[in-house]
Amino acid sequence: MIPVTTFVGQTVAVFGLGASGLLSAQALVTGGANVIAWDDNDSKVEVAKTAGIKTQDLHEIDWSKVAALVLAPGVPLTHPQPHWSAVLANKAGVEIIGDIELFCLQRAMSGAACPLIAITGTNGKSTTTALIAHLLKSAGIDAQMGGNIGVPVLELKDFAPGRAYVVEVSSYQIDLAPSLKPTVGILLNVSEDHLDRHGTIENYAAIKTLLVASAEQAAVIGVDDRWTRDAADRLERAGRKVVRVSVEAQLRDGYYADGTRIMRATAGKAHPVVQLAGIGSLRGAHNAQNAACAVAACRAIGLELEEIQKGLVSFPGLAHRMQQVGTKKTASGRILFVNDSKATNADSAAKALGSFTDIYWIAGGKPKSGGIASLAEFFPRIKKAYLIGEAAQDFAQTLEGKVPTEITGVLSKAIDAAARDAEASGLKEPVVLLSPACASFDQYPNFEIRGKAFTDIVLALPGIARMA
Ligand code: ADP
Repeated sequence: MIPVTTFVGQTVAVFGLGASGLLSAQALVTGGANVIAWDDNDSKVEVAKTAGIKTQDLHEIDWSKVAALVLAPGVPLTHPQPHWSAVLANKAGVEIIGDIELFCLQRAMSGAACPLIAITGTNGKSTTTALIAHLLKSAGIDAQMGGNIGVPVLELKDFAPGRAYVVEVSSYQIDLAPSLKPTVGILLNVSEDHLDRHGTIENYAAIKTLLVASAEQAAVIGVDDRWTRDAADRLERAGRKVVRVSVEAQLRDGYYADGTRIMRATAGKAHPVVQLAGIGSLRGAHNAQNAACAVAACRAIGLELEEIQKGLVSFPGLAHRMQQVGTKKTASGRILFVNDSKATNADSAAKALGSFTDIYWIAGGKPKSGGIASLAEFFPRIKKAYLIGEAAQDFAQTLEGKVPTEITGVLSKAIDAAARDAEASGLKEPVVLLSPACASFDQYPNFEIRGKAFTDIVLALPGIARMA
């Protein structure tokens, strides 16, 4: 844990006692602050009490004595409407911050020499964060990874010489972290998502841009959408060092993808820096964007290209995101089994369908509006579809006449049928791909459990060589 000593002797209110809120309270208490914690959910308050944290309804406290309100990232600060604790804090002129801000304040005090790489964007945050942490670790650096990726930042090991921090930051957390000044900031991309929490796309893009605008050494920006291009232009005009990354266009300056090679261009001259060919965990243009941003960030903090290339090759990927689970040898080659359970909508499934050919596609679950009609350009890659869950009939109708389908209902039957057909196909590397384009809730509590079910069933098939 990182004790937060910047509020020693002061009163700090904490609202929202999930994992990160509870840890914020504990880190503040350990650092000598007088914490008053609360949650709208009684059981969460009980948990905090049991952990020895002082709890009191924040309606009842004297706000004139409060130095800051620490709000958990899930609690609305502005949209759709401010939470009541935020309203009370605003009325009293009390600053509202989040756990990332506590981390940054503490870093300024006791860890300024520790590099901080902060990653945001609409898509690819977790992959890029995990990849950078992996690249640093494989180069022998003590990399601490946390933030939105699952481990609250204050749970990481305390600042120490030689330690680096790789932190995934959501737009909610940026809103609550005015002192965020990463060594390297990465903005991967911006598209319409989460507007429920930020009102307009302009506002959402502006918040995301803050993360790179404050970067000390380099602002790495994926410039393949107009919001991020605008951000890069604006920062450059303001004299900031921007490192542009594209997987759609050749750049005069920056990193861009040329097939599976990542190129580095300076004043119109380009040379290859790393090669992604054959790295199964980084297939597809979306992963090239993640990888190129990771390479740019690692170069900015001094890693050698050889170290980076070595790390890229051994990146295992993240569970449930085009995760290679296993292979099975066949007379004609091998079948690859891929778990992309995180693909809960058509957009996400498009990324996986675009990354493979000869696909035996397992799809379905609880349907999202729009269905899979938008995936038509990928249908020629699909040898057959195995449909499960509530969406099965609807998906079968969309695929009719274009892709052979089988309504298998449940995952185990879908896997059996897909594995059988892939084996009989005579193809060199057919892929059995779970990329459902649906939520899981009709059959599984969440996408992780659905992905684990897929993995367990696949690994129990005869003759499977495990990859994950
Ligand atoms: P996040 O943490 O931002 O939700 P993840 O790294 O967990 O992103 O990836 C989630 C899904 O988003 C992936 O399964 C893939 O379908 C898609 N994705 C990943 N990287 C990108 C990217 N750079 N651009 C667009 N989509 C991406």
